Amino acid sequence: RRLSAVSLIVLLGLTACDNTAPSTTVKTLPESAQPAAKTMTAAVDAKRLEDANTEPGNWMSYGRTYDEQRHSPLTKVNRDNVKDLGLAWSFDLNTARGIEATSIVVDGVMYTTSAWSIVHALDARTGKKLWTYDPKVAKEKSLHTCCDVVNRGVAVWQGQVFVGALDGRLVALDAATGKVNWEVATVDAKLPYTITGAPRVIKGKVLIGNGGAEFGVRGFIAAYNVADGSQAWKFYTVPGDPAKGFENEAMAMAAKTWNGKWFDLGGGGGTVWDAMAYDPDLDLMYIGVGNGTPWNQRIRSPGGGDNLFLSSIVALRPDTGEYVWHYQTTPGETWDYTATQHIILADIELEGKTRKVLMQAPKNGFFYVIDRTDGTLLSAENYIDITWATHVDMETGRPVEVPEARFYDEKPFTVFPSYLGGHNWHPMSYSPNTGLVYIPVLDFPANYGGDPAFKYRPGIFNTGIDGIVGSLPDSQAERDALRPLIKGRLVAWDPKTQKEAWRVDHKGSWNGGILSTASGLVFQGTADGKLVAYTDDKGEKLWEFPANTGIVAPPMTYEIDGEQYLSVNVGWGGAFALVFGEFVQDESLPNVNRVLTFKLGSKGTLPVPDWKRTATFNPPAQTANDDIIRHGFRLYQDTCMGCHGLNAVSGLTVPDLRASGYIQAQEAFDEVVLKGALRANGMAAFDQHLSTEDTAAIRAYIVQQAHRALKLQQGAVEG
Ligand code: CA
Repeated sequence: RRLSAVSLIVLLGLTACDNTAPSTTVKTLPESAQPAAKTMTAAVDAKRLEDANTEPGNWMSYGRTYDEQRHSPLTKVNRDNVKDLGLAWSFDLNTARGIEATSIVVDGVMYTTSAWSIVHALDARTGKKLWTYDPKVAKEKSLHTCCDVVNRGVAVWQGQVFVGALDGRLVALDAATGKVNWEVATVDAKLPYTITGAPRVIKGKVLIGNGGAEFGVRGFIAAYNVADGSQAWKFYTVPGDPAKGFENEAMAMAAKTWNGKWFDLGGGGGTVWDAMAYDPDLDLMYIGVGNGTPWNQRIRSPGGGDNLFLSSIVALRPDTGEYVWHYQTTPGETWDYTATQHIILADIELEGKTRKVLMQAPKNGFFYVIDRTDGTLLSAENYIDITWATHVDMETGRPVEVPEARFYDEKPFTVFPSYLGGHNWHPMSYSPNTGLVYIPVLDFPANYGGDPAFKYRPGIFNTGIDGIVGSLPDSQAERDALRPLIKGRLVAWDPKTQKEAWRVDHKGSWNGGILSTASGLVFQGTADGKLVAYTDDKGEKLWEFPANTGIVAPPMTYEIDGEQYLSVNVGWGGAFALVFGEFVQDESLPNVNRVLTFKLGSKGTLPVPDWKRTATFNPPAQTANDDIIRHGFRLYQDTCMGCHGLNAVSGLTVPDLRASGYIQAQEAFDEVVLKGALRANGMAAFDQHLSTEDTAAIRAYIVQQAHRALKLQQGAVEG
């Protein structure tokens, strides 16, 4: 009886998925099929989550606790014995795409995700697979991802596991079996929304936002009832067309800060693709809001305006989605400076008073300490060197901009930090013991110039930025000179003094998220394939393990039967890995994606990869003239670069087009690019976006880049 009910739900779910309307087609799990509380798997509820600190052995939600501190009270692994940590088990994730998830562990079971929103339930002691759920996202959906087909994890609640699928479905699984209980389409499937973030559950409602602001969507977050997936509320982050009226007073207020017809340019952006936190005492939840569509504000909102609630932290009532307060980090954002980065709540002493604060290090380079009761800014200082603003004015709470940074078409500007930020999605950690926030910092610039020929293209990359201005130099000497500028480090930041306490410089830029523990340790994985333990007060390295692949996900820890485990999902990927192809993790490391779990005294090892990044270039003769190649360069940067890399140099997660056989002949190239011959591999058809003249120009550019690479490989000296 149970099976047939499940089959029916699966069928209904697929119908909902294929439905183009924002559907709420749901099927309630029959009462008889609901597991009894006593034997329930993942029996997490409001009380357990609010009291998560009393269960240090479990890691029951994305940031471990509702305040998202990612600090574990566990101390069995400590400074004295961390050198004895060894690999207890590993689990192959069987994908070469980006891995960003934090695993959840409840009562001995681990729930984790890999690329393409696939969920695995594992025995947390042994890594033995209990079940796997694959939402079977259509691979061509990757067209709508700015930053890889990643997923950052699940939420659990009273016997169910919730995952946001890349194509916008929210799926509830039976925690014991992995079978689908219900699924709903949270977005209009015709629009380029995606989900990569982890859901949270607050008082029986599953919260999930979405991404897609690069492509043209109107951002929102919505709440769904755990029992049947019915929508409880929805909060838009940017106003719609004023002529159609506003959903609420917050939208009417926000609309006063916009100009022009942003609603016809894809909807304004402002997606809620990652950070959330919750304060049960204040009964406030906090969300981070992303960038605008397009990035370039001169196009999005001619004449300026703050463009609320882009790049803002917004406080909402979790029962209703009612707006309470907001703080905007980057008014009138124009650099892709999202405020979707990790939000941490803590009670810290400032000037002799304990303050309930919210802390964030968003992309724009400032570290903010905000009173989370009412949104008052308490302090803001830059955690990296920046060129777009001089400081934040404490009277107005606004950044004081460097005027030239708000680039014009004819006057590009080099901005620190880049569109990937001084800090991206990689989670930070706050230790109440040291009072420090540990930030995985990115430190490199980008050139911004307006695109005078910008035309909004529905469902495709829309930045309004000149792609050639934003490209890398082609000369190898200039690229080599750039390399030392592309930096990354672990920074321990004191939120009370707004000063750096210590730092560890890394070899690569795009490193992993952070875990801190009460035993005085900080753990982080690195781009060059190490999982490392540092002391939390000085950043001294105490231990490292060769994961033999780049790490971007954050470690987590749990305890079962008195044994403490440390676990991290390893594997390279995400936005930097796609775009900055040449500046990869480590030229000698392949992408091997696994869950690695450690405990004291284990001696497990991983096979040492016999691998070297190589590409064979065999380009056909160039037949196009310089004008066509230049046109192809621009089209490539605007259309292809987001996945295949700046200047046609790919990272490790998607093919390097310069070495592709499909560039040999225009017919073969068009079969793929226009007709979707490699759709099943994730390469969508671009016939709605590009003409045959366009693809000829793009191919000519790639052929040029392949010849350049071949010459370099053959040791030619650049003239
Ligand atoms: Ca963005």
